[in-house]
Amino acid sequence: METQKQNKSGLLIILSGPSGVGKGTVRRLVMADKSLNLHYSVSMTTRSPRDREVNGRDYFFVTEKEFIEHIENKDFLEYARFVDNYYGTPKHYVDKLLEEGKNVFLEIEVQGAMKAMQLYHGEGLTSIFLVPPSFEELESRIRHRRSETEEVIHERLSKAQKEMGMKYHYDYCVLNDSVQRAANEIKKIIKQAIKSHQERMSK
Ligand code: 5GP
Repeated sequence: METQKQNKSGLLIILSGPSGVGKGTVRRLVMADKSLNLHYSVSMTTRSPRDREVNGRDYFFVTEKEFIEHIENKDFLEYARFVDNYYGTPKHYVDKLLEEGKNVFLEIEVQGAMKAMQLYHGEGLTSIFLVPPSFEELESRIRHRRSETEEVIHERLSKAQKEMGMKYHYDYCVLNDSVQRAANEIKKIIKQAIKSHQERMSK
């Protein structure tokens, strides 16, 4: 198995969870805590921007041809196909930040998360899975977004069910019963993980 050489000093934090669980909102609350020294890695995707999404802030929106070129150039730390689109984490940017001792936050789906976990192999990585209060709640959140066709909503819901089964592969599961509570719990987890990681690095 290929593993990443651990000469890095930052911590890699992965947040996953089914579509519609509220990862984006929780992530923004967590990122707002400057004491954690977190840097969000903006992913690349072939999906079209939703209302209010900004290129370079929410995603780097690219064509499928461009994305495939990046795959061929081995530019991704991980990438996955999710409901007919590609999503990937830029490797060079993340590794550079980690080498500089910065903590990098990835918000990615489960297949990509499994690849990143393999690559960073426990050390220097903390993974968190955000769980919805119920499946009904998840469906209602996806529907209220009103940005997708019925077909895409169905695909996202069936994907969500499969993704829920992967939660046991993560270090922590956090229930998103309230975004503020979930964000506070995640901040605590990250604080503790940074502390343990720094202690390990200084040995
Ligand atoms: P959405 O289209 O709702 O923005 O994202 C769909 C799924 O792709 C979400 O679960 C999101 O976390 C995930 N995702 C976003 N960026 C990446 C990435 O770089 N890699 C992977 N594997 N998944 C991503």
